[in-house]
Amino acid sequence: MAEIGIIGAGIAGIASAIRMAVKGHQVDVFEANSYAGGKLSDFKMGDYRFDAGPSLFTMPMYVEELFKLANRNPKHYIEYERLPVVCNYFWEDEIRLSAYADPQRFGEEVKEKLDVDPSRLQKMMADSQRKYDISGQIFLEKSLHKRNTWLQPKVLKAMMLAPTMDLFSTMDQVNKRFLKHPKLVQLFNRFATYNGSNPYKAPGILSIIPHFEHHFGAYIPKGGMVSITKSLVKLAKEEGVRFHFNTKVDEIIVEQKRAMGLRIGRDMRYFDTIISNMDVFFTYRKLLPNIKHPERTLAQEKSTSALIFYWGIKQQFPELDLHNILFTEDYKKEFDYLQNGKILDDPTVYINITSKYCKADAPEGGENWFTMINVPYNSGQDWETMIATARKQIIKKINRILKIDVESLIECEDILDPRTIESRTSSHLGSLYGTSSNNRMAAFLRHPNFSNKIKGLYFCGGSVHPGGGIPLCLLSAKIVDEMMEV
Ligand SMILES: Cc1cc2nc3c(=O)[nH]c(=O)nc-3n(C[C@H](O)[C@H](O)[C@H](O)COP(=O)(O)OP(=O)(O)OC[C@H]3O[C@@H](n4cnc5c(N)ncnc54)[C@H](O)[C@@H]3O)c2cc1C
Repeated sequence: MAEIGIIGAGIAGIASAIRMAVKGHQVDVFEANSYAGGKLSDFKMGDYRFDAGPSLFTMPMYVEELFKLANRNPKHYIEYERLPVVCNYFWEDEIRLSAYADPQRFGEEVKEKLDVDPSRLQKMMADSQRKYDISGQIFLEKSLHKRNTWLQPKVLKAMMLAPTMDLFSTMDQVNKRFLKHPKLVQLFNRFATYNGSNPYKAPGILSIIPHFEHHFGAYIPKGGMVSITKSLVKLAKEEGVRFHFNTKVDEIIVEQKRAMGLRIGRDMRYFDTIISNMDVFFTYRKLLPNIKHPERTLAQEKSTSALIFYWGIKQQFPELDLHNILFTEDYKKEFDYLQNGKILDDPTVYINITSKYCKADAPEGGENWFTMINVPYNSGQDWETMIATARKQIIKKINRILKIDVESLIECEDILDPRTIESRTSSHLGSLYGTSSNNRMAAFLRHPNFSNKIKGLYFCGGSVHPGGGIPLCLLSAKIVDEMMEV
């Protein structure tokens, strides 16, 4: 049995803790906040409950896998249902489209609302699946920094098929090739934002993302997204993991190129192995001041961030569902603005309403609106002015498209912006998904899940391979587990 110290109780830190405990190790998780989950947490405002960060749950099999590893029935810990409509889309010209989970129904909707032949959608989805089948397991489930990954026959096959994977086209070009209709292209371009990227720059291989949502499905956990955190913390505790909240790690103790333990204030805690779930940028800058940092890796472009208005709304809107998108008229311009550190005056607005499924999340007759726009990562902008301006634009857009006066319906409000995302979860510059995937080499340039300078030091979470988002964070823990030497 080894003693493992984990820095951070984000979703990947918790998943790593479960994996280590299941192997019989003694695991201690140190978390700076008073709660677990990092970005995947929630809070209450009056009678309204809000998931603080993630709102879309895909690939639940990676959550289930953790319960199965521990010989538990996942259903005894977490319940979730598949969404019949993945997302409702709204445009300024009054066109509204529901992305049904059932492919045939989605095809019919696309035909009826946009007059697009459903076969285009089918070809798009088939290509998405093909790309996932060739590359998914290799690029997402294995370390790209270990020799044995590259010796597998599947990798050889993927390399041979690389010319068909749209590495040299952008997502936008691929979507245009298959879908042609500007509204449908815009809808599929939006999938780039699932890892904080720009569809006009990100490589076409990222068109595997729709496959996650439309093949594996989109789900809502009973009790909201935070149930994922709660259920995994429960499992971890049952497996003997010790959580230490309000405990910020100040340094990783390194002796003779080996991670020996953690310094917490003046307290030294010694471990056989350390796993950092802290953003890799800050792991180096704050916890490893005396070693050489991988500057090129740390300097990579960050993913976008978010500006969220959590609104308690004293009315219900039947035309809205759990996930709703009110599109901008000029998507390319919106991403150009983001790329330049700015917010477009007509941003795409996302409204997530968990009370559509979790009635207890809002009082009778009300709804809990998580109203979000993509914003650039924090590079020292005047956020107070930008937030005030964006709030006005968002309200105008909602009023225009839904034909309501939303401001008069807001009972309570809280705000999350790139600065608070950084201060609450130590995410460098407030980026949501670590580094962006705008570069075709991004998958290879992300920090590996281990240190090649310090033995016994591993990394998990959204800032390292294979990237951000709940499913990938869970996979980072799996990769650490598989490569661990204890
Ligand atoms: C607004 C928003 C919307 C999102 N939407 C989605 C979505 O719809 N679907 C999806 O899949 N993903 C989404 N994401 C991304 C997803 O939330 C993240 O990729 C994922 O939750 C990151 O998990 P993590 O394991 O990297 O840890 P994090 O959540 O980043 O947590 C890291 C933890 O480490 C702790 N920590 C840091 N430094 C120290 C230290 N020195 N000592 C002790 N503790 C420390 C922090 O306090 C924090 O709790 C969203 C994120 C945000 C913010």
